[in-house]
Amino acid sequence: KGNIAFRSVTFGYENHAHVLKNINLHIRAGETLALVGPSGAGKSTLCSLIPRFYEIDEGEITIDGIDIRRMTQHSLRNQIGIVQQDVFLFNGTIRENIAYGKLDATEEQIWEAARQAHLEPMLQALPDGLDTLIGQRGLKLSGGQRQRLSIARIFLKNPPILILDEATSALDTETELAIQQALERLSRNRTTLIIAHRLATIRHADRIVVVTEEGIAEEGSHEALLASGG
Ligand code: ADP
Ligand code: ADP
Repeated sequence: KGNIAFRSVTFGYENHAHVLKNINLHIRAGETLALVGPSGAGKSTLCSLIPRFYEIDEGEITIDGIDIRRMTQHSLRNQIGIVQQDVFLFNGTIRENIAYGKLDATEEQIWEAARQAHLEPMLQALPDGLDTLIGQRGLKLSGGQRQRLSIARIFLKNPPILILDEATSALDTETELAIQQALERLSRNRTTLIIAHRLATIRHADRIVVVTEEGIAEEGSHEALLASGG
C-alpha cells in the first residue's frame, strides 16, 4: 500500500497557468523520494496535488491504482499525512490539533507523539498544557512550534503515505535532525515518504527527482547526484 502514480499530469493555478506540464512519475510503496529543484519550480504544488488540495487540469493521479478523484476526502486524509512549510492549524486545543483525524488516541499516545516531535518543553511551560487553546487567549506559536505540532500529528497518525514539504524548515538544525531521524525510523520499509527539501539535509533517499520549470529533469540516487555536483 502506498503506490502513487502521476500520469500526464498538467496543472496551473487560476492566475498562474502551466506550473506542472505533462508530469509522469511513479512512486513505489515504501519508497523514499526526494524532490529537489529551484524555488518556484513546482515542488510544493506537486506535493499538494496528492491529497487533492487542488484539482488537476489534465491527466490522472492514482493511489494504489485508484484515481484520487474517486476517493473521498476522508479516505485520502486517512492515507496521507502532509506537513507543509505553512502549517494548517485550527481553532481548538493543542490536544485536538494533535489528535485531529485520530480521535480514539489515548492520553499516552498523544504525549508520546508530542515527545517525538520535541513539543514537550513547550507544553510543560503552558498553563493548560495539551488543553491550551490555539488562536485564542493570545497564544502565539512560532513557525517552529507550529511545525512541531503538525509533525506530532504525523507520529500519532502514522499514515502509509507521508509528505514532508519543507516540513522542518523553521527548526534549529539540531531539532531538525532529531525529528528527521525519528520520522525516518517511523517510515522505514512501510511508509511511502516524499520529501521536498534542501538537498543538503536529505539523507537515505531511494531516488531523487529534480523538478524544474521544464518538468522532471533528472532522476537518480543521492550519491549519483552528489557526484555530478548537482
Ligand atoms: P516550489 O515548491 O518548487 O518552490 P511552488 O510549487 O511553491 O514551487 O510554486 C510553483 C509556481 O507556482 C511558482 O511560480 C509560484 O509562484 C506559483 N504558485 C504557488 N502557489 C500558488 C498559488 N496558490 N496561486 C498562484 N500561484 C502559485
Ligand atoms: P491531515 O493531516 O489530517 O490530512 P491536514 O493538515 O493535511 O490534515 O489538512 C487539514 C485540512 O486542511 C484538510 O481538510 C485539507 O484539505 C486542508 N488543507 C491543508 N492544507 C491545505 C492547503 N495547502 N490547501 C488547501 N487545503 C489545505
